[in-house]
Amino acid sequence: MRDQQGRNICYLRISVTDRCNLRCVYCMPEEGVAWMPHEDILTYEQITQVVEAAASLGVRHVRLTGGEPLVRPQLYRLVEMVKGIEQIETVTLTTNGVLLAQQLPQLRRAGLDGVNISLDTLNPQQFAAITRRELLSQAREGLTAALQMPGLTVKVNCVPAHYNCDQIVPLASLARDQDVSVRFIEMMPIGLGRESVGLSQHQVMEQLTGSFGPPGSCARPLGVGPSEYFTFSGFVGRIGFISAVSHQFCHQCNRVRLTAGGYLKTCLQYDTGVALKPCLEAGSSPETLRRIMEQAIYQKPASHHFSTAAQVGDEANNMHQIGG
Ligand code: SAM
Ligand code: SF4
Repeated sequence: MRDQQGRNICYLRISVTDRCNLRCVYCMPEEGVAWMPHEDILTYEQITQVVEAAASLGVRHVRLTGGEPLVRPQLYRLVEMVKGIEQIETVTLTTNGVLLAQQLPQLRRAGLDGVNISLDTLNPQQFAAITRRELLSQAREGLTAALQMPGLTVKVNCVPAHYNCDQIVPLASLARDQDVSVRFIEMMPIGLGRESVGLSQHQVMEQLTGSFGPPGSCARPLGVGPSEYFTFSGFVGRIGFISAVSHQFCHQCNRVRLTAGGYLKTCLQYDTGVALKPCLEAGSSPETLRRIMEQAIYQKPASHHFSTAAQVGDEANNMHQIGG
């Protein structure tokens, strides 16, 4: 469907949990997180109902995220249920990779099309400092398993900042040697991200051209998101940028989000949207659910205001509670 700005909304990001096995400094506090009670979290059946309604409104692509989606038991069941909806073309996953190696065969059999692995560094000490957990080798095993899985689209996501700026070239080198997209995501001023200073696309590109020479742009668009892709001489894979701060892409935003608690969130920065859980619990008809979602999506905000000070109505949660 089209929102009031005329944008075609075809992509739904679903957070399946607010829990995580890491504690990345820009995403989640080390301690004292008030977890959402289990009974407040949508069941896989309720999520599937929402995706069915979204599909009837034109959503074709679903990404599962979190928190860490793989800490939720039997995630493959949800992949299978969502992939079974006729209009859904792709089901993908964003994960920190720690639990991926063991779960990937089952997820792939269930129909998973692609995986984005968040990896900010290849240095074990730095990984422990950023994530507050010593789990780099498990995350790398997840990446290796994904790269070996036939037919799976694999992307690596890094949020560059001053503390991991020495890792930009090593991480980008993964795309030199393998068919993988390595993407640099600008730090967004959401939750703890407001307290962190990230590097801009320009700063990252300077390092990349210094090491790999001038970039070439990728001829065809890749995926359904806002990334801008480049390639470098001798690279098998690609380098992408998601630069919500320096290259605002709201005019082409095609996505809405569903939080673990069932809030249909229409823009990352604002708390605008609609709570779907009451409707799901009341046993409302598919048509009622669809109408409620349609109204909320139509009113999707025109753009974020990352470059200006926080305002009333801005998202107050941290990224692990929203889904990134
Ligand atoms: N746990 C999974 C993971 O890390 O991939 C999925 C959830 S995580 C919230 C999704 C993505 O959001 C990760 O790539 C993470 O780096 C990114 N992220 C978290 N906080 C961010 C922020 N303030 N700005 C930009 N990206 C952020
Ligand atoms: Fe967990 Fe992902 Fe947030 Fe890191 S970025 S704390 S892995 S939800």
